[in-house]
Amino acid sequence: NADLAMFRSKAEGRNNYHFYVAQMDAEVRARKLIENDLRQALGTEQLELHYQPLVEMSSRRIVGCEALLRWNHPTRGWVPPGEFIPIIERSDLIGPLGRWILHRACQQGREWQRDGLEPMKIAVNLSPAQFKQTQSIIAMVADILDQTGFAPDQLQLEITEGIAMQNVDATIEVLQSLRAMGVVISIDDFGTGYSSLNYLKRFPVDKLKIDRSFVVDIGLHPDNAAVVEAIVNLGHSLRTRVNVEGIETKEQLDFLQAHKVDEAQGFYFSKAVPADQFAHLVRTKSPWPA
Ligand code: C2E
Ligand code: MG
Ligand code: MG
Ligand code: MG
Repeated sequence: NADLAMFRSKAEGRNNYHFYVAQMDAEVRARKLIENDLRQALGTEQLELHYQPLVEMSSRRIVGCEALLRWNHPTRGWVPPGEFIPIIERSDLIGPLGRWILHRACQQGREWQRDGLEPMKIAVNLSPAQFKQTQSIIAMVADILDQTGFAPDQLQLEITEGIAMQNVDATIEVLQSLRAMGVVISIDDFGTGYSSLNYLKRFPVDKLKIDRSFVVDIGLHPDNAAVVEAIVNLGHSLRTRVNVEGIETKEQLDFLQAHKVDEAQGFYFSKAVPADQFAHLVRTKSPWPA
């Protein structure tokens, strides 16, 4: 009987292995298909940036936006970013696409200004892969600012704690160079990574952006409220501004304002919208009506 059990588990192990390989194959193939479609999409109108308003708490004015990549696939329609951005980040597409995103955002900033909109800060997300080539990222940002004529202090670059922790000394150097150009640096999804407080104080950053996960049930979990309060205090004592993403309700907004968060983003105000709709929001809802 023991032999039989052993035999069975070996056979099952083998089956599991085949199953595993088959499934991995399927995943790799699915990823390759998306990657190919993305290659086709590059440089076409399938890929565009949408803009989510960033609202200053004290004035309730829209002071900027976050540029978020959107993909309108010819047969699938809008593909969720979580499905294709990791594929971009793991392929060689991140080079040209990362550059296009930054260029497009800065260009859009100039277009809005030409259309008479007050100057808007634009936040652009950077991927870890882009950050690895430290010299080229500095050159790329300088180049794009130069080409587009977008003001450096209106550009905000978002990095995650993961990027910051990859190679602390190199990261500090890059951030210092970017800041020397006048670019604003913010740490995205703050609180979800592993940044040691010891490093945090060495990082030349201007903003902490508290992750949405802490906001979701602020009212239900006193712990989340305590964490938010602690991050705000930490940020302010390090002389950084504190942003928060993912505000969906008036209650969350009031709580965060009472706790001295500086700027906020979330579906309560608006999801990310195309450029012309963003301009319309600025013209009609800044300051945001109570
Ligand atoms: P992120 O940089 O943390 O961006 C914020 C995400 O939270 C966006 O999701 C936004 O739509 C979502 N969000 C904002 N407010 C709310 C809210 O009130 N409720 C809910 N449920 N969600 C809210 P999105 O656009 O799906 O992007 C997901 C992630 O994909 C981004 O997280 C960012 O890491 C990445 N990503 C998006 N666009 C780009 C890009 O152009 N370049 C790079 N490198 N990454 C990008
Ligand atoms: Mg972001
Ligand atoms: Mg974020
Ligand atoms: Mg996030």
